[in-house]
Amino acid sequence: MRISYSSLDTFKTCPLKYKLQDIDRIRAPKNIEQIFGASIHSTLKYMFERKPLYPTLNQIIDFFRNLWDQQKTLIKNEDVYFKEGISLLERFYKRNQPWNFNVVDLESRFEVDLDNPKTGEKHVLAGIIDRIDKNDDAYEIIDYKTARKMPGQDNIDKDLQMSIYHLGLLRRWPHLDPGKIKLSFYYLKHGEKISTSRNKNQLEENKKFIFKTIDEIKERIKNNYDFPPLPSGLCDWCGYKQMCPMWKHLYQSQISNFKSQKDIEPVIKEYFELKDQNDKNNDRLDELKTLIYGFMDEQKVERVFGAEGYLTRKMQEKISYDIKKIKEFLKEKIDNFIIKKQFTILTALRKKIEK
Ligand code: SF4
Repeated sequence: MRISYSSLDTFKTCPLKYKLQDIDRIRAPKNIEQIFGASIHSTLKYMFERKPLYPTLNQIIDFFRNLWDQQKTLIKNEDVYFKEGISLLERFYKRNQPWNFNVVDLESRFEVDLDNPKTGEKHVLAGIIDRIDKNDDAYEIIDYKTARKMPGQDNIDKDLQMSIYHLGLLRRWPHLDPGKIKLSFYYLKHGEKISTSRNKNQLEENKKFIFKTIDEIKERIKNNYDFPPLPSGLCDWCGYKQMCPMWKHLYQSQISNFKSQKDIEPVIKEYFELKDQNDKNNDRLDELKTLIYGFMDEQKVERVFGAEGYLTRKMQEKISYDIKKIKEFLKEKIDNFIIKKQFTILTALRKKIEK
């Protein structure tokens, strides 16, 4: 199977999204975050390209503006993203003037052959590394992130994407010393670079995880393409929301084979009214119970009577054992038995009780 980190990640996040995207190959409309991320990535690639000189900051901003303008039809009233992009690029340029880095490749494509030792199946792991730098004899993989959230070092140290990139770099240049590969995420909105590295054991664990995930995917395909939706906070960024059974109903124009909205609306309304009434009743019942139990405590009774019936407080029966007495009782019984029968097994049992 040919798979990328992003597909593995999509499958883990939501199997249905994986199916729609990677098996059915349905193209989803891009959201503003994706358009923003792709435009920034392309602009940063342009920033480090020397043709024959590095572009100036004005040229970089113009490049970004052109990209943005080309997508005007997809982006409506999203000026705030455009402005954020400009200030992000300016900040980045100030700190990372291109001539200070020895960039060996940009948007570097790789493929890694992965053979599952258990099943003998052959897989190919593919991906694109944003940037590769060389500092003396050490290499640094840099992945740009436009996310607002910046994960902690712990998560970065376990991150699967970076492990896959590490394997990709080694596949490309097998002579490299794995100990001299630095893996960095550059969080552009924060201007922070967080680095990590990988050892052999970690990479072996990652490979096992990849094989396991591929097996899960294959199992689901075998099982009649059973890829269920897994709703989460990430649904807000999912391009398949309108066709997803978890959200489809929200989009009125998509409802054709449902009962008509006019029919179902009063049913939903009644359901929520009853549920609301139920919740209120339950709250009041709890209050009444507290009052009645208070009365029972005061009167030292466990059952109270009214004209409509009576109410009993559930009493818990507690059974407690006197372990010492039980041990003595058993010892005596067993001793008598041993004397009579001389059963060795019971002698052992007695020793156990004595402990
Ligand atoms: S909307 Fe949510 S549950 Fe539906 S496919 Fe997308 S990620 Fe999965």
